[in-house]
Amino acid sequence: MTKVSERLNRLSESATLAMARMSRELKEKGHNVIALSLGEPDFDTPNFIKESAKKAIDDNFSHYTPVPGMIELRKAISEKFKRDNNLDYSPEEIVVSTGAKQSLANVCLSLLNDGDEVLLPAPYWVSYSEIVKLAEGNPIEIPSSIDNDFKVTAKEIEKYITPKTKILMFSSPCNPSGTVFTQSELEEITEMLEKYPDIYIIADEIYEHINFTGNHFSIGTISSLKGRVITVNGVSKGFAMTGWRVGFIGAPLWIAKACNKIQGQVTSATCSISQKAAETAMIANPSEIMFMKDIFLKRRDLVLNKISEIEGMKCNVPQGAFYLFPDVSYYFGKSDGENIINNSDDLCLYLLNSCYVAFVSGTAFGNPECIRISYAASEENLIEAFNRIKIQLEKLK
Ligand code: PMP
Ligand code: GLU
Repeated sequence: MTKVSERLNRLSESATLAMARMSRELKEKGHNVIALSLGEPDFDTPNFIKESAKKAIDDNFSHYTPVPGMIELRKAISEKFKRDNNLDYSPEEIVVSTGAKQSLANVCLSLLNDGDEVLLPAPYWVSYSEIVKLAEGNPIEIPSSIDNDFKVTAKEIEKYITPKTKILMFSSPCNPSGTVFTQSELEEITEMLEKYPDIYIIADEIYEHINFTGNHFSIGTISSLKGRVITVNGVSKGFAMTGWRVGFIGAPLWIAKACNKIQGQVTSATCSISQKAAETAMIANPSEIMFMKDIFLKRRDLVLNKISEIEGMKCNVPQGAFYLFPDVSYYFGKSDGENIINNSDDLCLYLLNSCYVAFVSGTAFGNPECIRISYAASEENLIEAFNRIKIQLEKLK
């Protein structure tokens, strides 16, 4: 019998990381696994960013920095917010953390009391619900439809508001659906939220630079929401810097101070060298990294085309991030004579074990009819993966 806390017992293992672990284990056994499970760019960090980190090491930039991040970095983020997003956050309203994952955890731990509700338009990123639970809150899923590009409307959100609602949390571009909310859709949601001044909004914009519409809109720019929006961002996705562990928030001062207080007791500031690298990334002209978005768009179209050749996979056309989230419910109840597919978890395990292609089940993203495909992989691997799964899926009758 284990003695872990009830808090931990309520928590699930990260589904994305679990699938990454299972793929690694099969690879170690010698299988040729194509992992389209973990959401991370397959590009290397750009050279100009790496150079600044090397210089930071040589300059002995190796000490603790202030807990919310060094002031030069927070100034660069403040200017980036203004330049790219038209957001006004002063350096004091910015907290840099060990990845946007920690930023989200800091905010939830700062704001939630036991039983407070957090609205999560589904599908949502796997860690949202678990971070909310860790902070003793209740995640409340708001379902959406693939036929509406997985978008929830203001009216649909409003139906789920109760006196306990504390936060609305969403990502745009969205992980896992790739959905991008337009300015007018976010304005409509804002108009509804004006009636509920006690609800905070966590806007996760980590896929900002992987947006095929060319228009990224930040809900934090809407003046009627002033004092209520926490904008989350980071360098992991847009700058191919997942391992450097730098994420950040812009938030009302009292929330930034609260996050600083938590971080000061849990991790202190993130790595000093990574902060120098992130400063270079923030100062850079975003055009320096746009080549990655262009390549992602080409891959999206390639995979959409491959999916259209597979009977039973229904997909929207995502406008951002590097994921597809097809509905695979067509296969539920089918079998290859040996394995019965009852849900998307079964389908992912079937594909992983039979043809060594890893996806993540939609269950942990709040939509059990779907699977998540990360197309942050080479064209060659994407083509090979879809050739393999087409053969395996045709065996299901
Ligand atoms: N938000 C979303 C929507 C994500 O997909 C991720 C995954 N990396 C994160 C936040 C956290 O990113 P990181 O901790 O690497 O900054
Ligand atoms: N966010 C990425 C994903 O969704 C990385 C894995 C993780 O941090 O959970 O796959």
